[in-house]
Amino acid sequence: MMTLSEALNDARRRHVAIGHFNVADLVALKAVTEAARGLKLPVLIGASEGERGFLGVREIAAVVASLRETLDHPIFLNADHTHSLEGAIAAAEAGFDMIGFDASTNPLETNVKLTKQAVEAVKSINRSIVVEGELGNIGSGSEIHDKVPESSRFLTKAEEAKQFVEATGIDVLAPAVGNMHGLLKSMISGDVKKRLDIGRIRDVAGAAGIPLTLHGGSGTDDGDFQKAILAGMTIVHINTEIRLAWRRGLEASLAENPDEVVPYKIYNKPLDEMRKVVSSRLRLFNGV
Ligand SMILES: [Zn+2]
Repeated sequence: MMTLSEALNDARRRHVAIGHFNVADLVALKAVTEAARGLKLPVLIGASEGERGFLGVREIAAVVASLRETLDHPIFLNADHTHSLEGAIAAAEAGFDMIGFDASTNPLETNVKLTKQAVEAVKSINRSIVVEGELGNIGSGSEIHDKVPESSRFLTKAEEAKQFVEATGIDVLAPAVGNMHGLLKSMISGDVKKRLDIGRIRDVAGAAGIPLTLHGGSGTDDGDFQKAILAGMTIVHINTEIRLAWRRGLEASLAENPDEVVPYKIYNKPLDEMRKVVSSRLRLFNGV
């Protein structure tokens, strides 16, 4: 079985991206796993602090480890947007493959200090865990927003990216390049798309010299995704699109079967809707 580091190096070399999908329950986990297996592609499962709080840090790690072994498929687990050192250590000890450490709302100097501390603590638990650091601001909350959050307008500079990578020892960098968490109401219909600063991605990737992660990918223009991946994005995060598919699938399922009480029967439709979203994103990210 390949490690996450190997999967990242392979994706980077081939100019494709590993899809990262957040899950808050076993139905979403099943949807992501089945889509990735169906396409024979490695995949990253994301669990943010909120999602870990709901699922249990050790519990989600145990389920993903079990799936990887039983299915013999490269399914990796990331502790998405971990804001504290304690949270990073808890996820590392639970067996997560990756820690997405996020101190990006702090001034640069503090971000460097906290991220370096997290890298050292995580690597002392297990050297093979991949640590991501965040630089710049991409807003917070994979939700539906009325307008673009002010904070999402500070983009990452290439020179700062280089210094940040050198000073912290991170393996992967998440920059702000026009991406944003969540979706605007106007994006739900699909008429308005997020656009990325491709030139900046190329510059940051060159300066950083390590794989980059694109956060807040939901609702991004398909062509921009492809260009961003060619320019150096090796991991792409999708969350809100899956949450939307879950909600729509669940509502349709309940409306179509008002008397149904068997959970796994009710879940068939949301499962299907989420699987479709994950499959189409994985296809796009990998050109298959
Ligand atoms: Zn994110």
